[in-house]
This record gives sequence, C-alpha cells and structure tokens, in this order.
Amino acid sequence: MIDLRSDTVTRPSQEMRAVMASAPVGDDVYGEDPTINALEERIASMFGVEAALFTPTGSLANQLAIRQLVKPGEELITETFSHIVRAELGAGAVFSGISTRTWFSPRGLLRAQDPLAISYPDAGPYQVSTTAIAIENTHNFGGGTVQPLAEIQKLREATSKVGIAMHLDGARLWNAHVATGISLKDYAKNFDTISICLSKGLGAPAGSLMLSTKDRVASARVWRKRYGSGMRQIGILGAAGNFALDHNIDRLSDDHNHAHSLALAAHSVSPIFVNPDHVDTNIVAIDLTGVKLSAAELSAQLKEAGILASAMGVNVLRLVTHLDISTEDISKVNEVLSELLQRALVTQ
Ligand SMILES: *Cc1c(COP(=O)(O)O)cnc(C)c1O
Repeated sequence: MIDLRSDTVTRPSQEMRAVMASAPVGDDVYGEDPTINALEERIASMFGVEAALFTPTGSLANQLAIRQLVKPGEELITETFSHIVRAELGAGAVFSGISTRTWFSPRGLLRAQDPLAISYPDAGPYQVSTTAIAIENTHNFGGGTVQPLAEIQKLREATSKVGIAMHLDGARLWNAHVATGISLKDYAKNFDTISICLSKGLGAPAGSLMLSTKDRVASARVWRKRYGSGMRQIGILGAAGNFALDHNIDRLSDDHNHAHSLALAAHSVSPIFVNPDHVDTNIVAIDLTGVKLSAAELSAQLKEAGILASAMGVNVLRLVTHLDISTEDISKVNEVLSELLQRALVTQ
C-alpha cells in the first residue's frame, strides 16, 4: 500500500531503531534521563527559547501551553479548522476550563486582521476576555498552508500592546521552515508558547515538545505529571527525536516536491481539482465539489489500486507525502489519480 493518509504513518528506519536501542537513559520523572535532557536543551536552542519539555503527543504539548496562557473562564481564539479546536476533543474546555472562539480563513491562511477583529481583551464583568491567540503553522486541515511571517509579526505587534498572548501550534513548523528558508528562531520569537512534533514529517515514532520560558516550562512539567504523562526511561524516544533532527529536516523538501507533483497531475486533468500554487508543503487537498464523486468514493477507488488517502469531509480528499513515499510511488499515484479524476470529469 502507498499510504498518503498522513505523515504520521512513517515507520522508524533501521538506523533510527539502532540509535534508540543504544540510547543512554535514566528516570525522566527524576530529571535524570540524559538523552531527554539533551534533546530538550537542543530544541530550546534551535528555537532560541529558554526551555523545552518533552511530551508524548502534540495535543498534550498544545494543552500544556494553553493552560499556561489562559485562565479558567477566559478564551483562546483560533482559526475554525485548526487542530486545537477540531482534533483535540475539547481538551481546552475539559482540562483548562477555557472557552474558544474561532475565525474562518480560506486555506487557514493567516490575515492579522481576522483574529484582531474578534479579539476582546479585558472584557470586564459582562463578556469573555480574550487572553490568547493560537496560530497553526503549517495549517493542517487548510492543506499544509504556510503562514506569512509578516502577518504573524503584525499580529504580534498589535496583541502585545493589549496583553494578548500568542501560541504557535508548530506540529509542522519544520515544513514551513524548509519551504520558506525562514529560521525556526525567526518564527519562534513572535510567540509566548510553542508546540512542535517529532512524529509527523520528521519520522520519529512518538514525541513532541512544548517550548516557552523557564517558568512556564517548569509549571508545564508539573501539569504533565498531573495529567499522567510523567514518563521514565524515555531516552529511547528522545534518541529517535535526535536522529530525526540530524537526518530528516532538510529532506522535507523532497516531500514538498512530491506533493507539488501530485497537485500538478490533478491540475492537468482539470484546474477545478487543485491550484498547485496553493500547495505550500507536503499536503494536497483535492477539491471534488465540481464533480459527482465524493471524497469517500474516490478514496475507495484509490484503495483498490493500492493507495490510501483520507476523505476530509464530503468533498475534500487529502494526500500527505512523507519519508516513506518514494518518487516511484508518486509516479504511480499520479497515473492512477489522473485516470480516476478524468473518469469523474467525463461521467458528469
Ligand atoms: C498532529 C498535530 C498535532 C498533534 O497531534 P498528536 O496526534 O496529539 O501528536 C497538533 N497540531 C497539528 C496541526 C497537528 O497536525
């Protein structure tokens, strides 16, 4: 099977497994795992922040960050299709007692005026006060959209004047960094808290980090334990993360080229399916609203040909490229996908 459902499906390579097997470890709840301590320091310095905390998932990294910024009864605002409000199962409400409001933006693309238009800092005793804004970069359900640095900076400038904090859901910030050449530090300096994932395009089996000031990370460490995620000899996972940082960042450009190739193939059948200029990174959203073929139907047809893809809603099929997908795989998908889209187009 050629699995394009997500970049989470990658399996650790033999080389990655070898460094995991030989990793020095200790009890991380005691702060004694040397591999994790080194990874947290390494990530903090790559992003130019004071401290970092290893977590099993990106959702937990997001949630630990959010609870540092937003008190119970206050609100976090974010884009309508962001992971924090669509894919974390209400965790902000359940664990932190916060409310959320959203703005919609096509492809999830950030325009600073959108959050500013709905934000309400210091709302007093009658309405909910906005205390944080979360930005997703790249935007997953938006189709791997890279957020423009100028808009992030504009938003940072406006929000810092009124005391609204900014959180970056950077599960795929690596992809934005490779696609634009903008440094991780230049992105990071606009945010109070950040989450990043090692388990998406970087190919580690598990692992994310929450980044912020020393104080916030110390507090997040307490909350991580309280949530039941204090882990012991996790240097085994940390070693996979270190290996991923050493070997799998620059190669993300291959994934981006593969995604672009998929988009060009679909576009050459008809421009109604996708605009290749909107494929910034490793995610391709095929728009089926113009044909009588649902995303679930197309996904079933692809599966018969040995290709897995996700139906995201009724009319959008998502294809995600990653390190276990070769250029030969992409050629095969291009062939099959073109044929199926062509058939959908002529059987209107
Ligand atoms: C995958 C992802 C996360 C974290 O997901 P986990 O499955 O909890 O590791 C967070 N944000 C975005 C945008 C993601 O794509």
